[in-house]
Amino acid sequence: MTRQSLHIDWTACDGRGLCTELLGPLLVRDEWGYPRAAGYGSDVPIPGSFVADARDAVALCPRLALSLQEVRTPARS
Ligand code: SF4
Repeated sequence: MTRQSLHIDWTACDGRGLCTELLGPLLVRDEWGYPRAAGYGSDVPIPGSFVADARDAVALCPRLALSLQEVRTPARS
């Protein structure tokens, strides 16, 4: 089984927050404007209902600071 994870490269991000507009309430801006997800670091699990918006955010990020990755999850027994 796989799920999507959004990777945020804060070294490339300009902190203007386009992605937080597309992915709110999943992402919020921190005090400097950088996108953050509560309880996560630079890799944010994306629920299925947000995958299309996450793809838009990756495509529209002006600094190419976002990428979507497939992450394997252990099969349930
Ligand atoms: S859209 Fe890209 S550059 Fe803008 S805040 Fe989000 S990650 Fe940073």
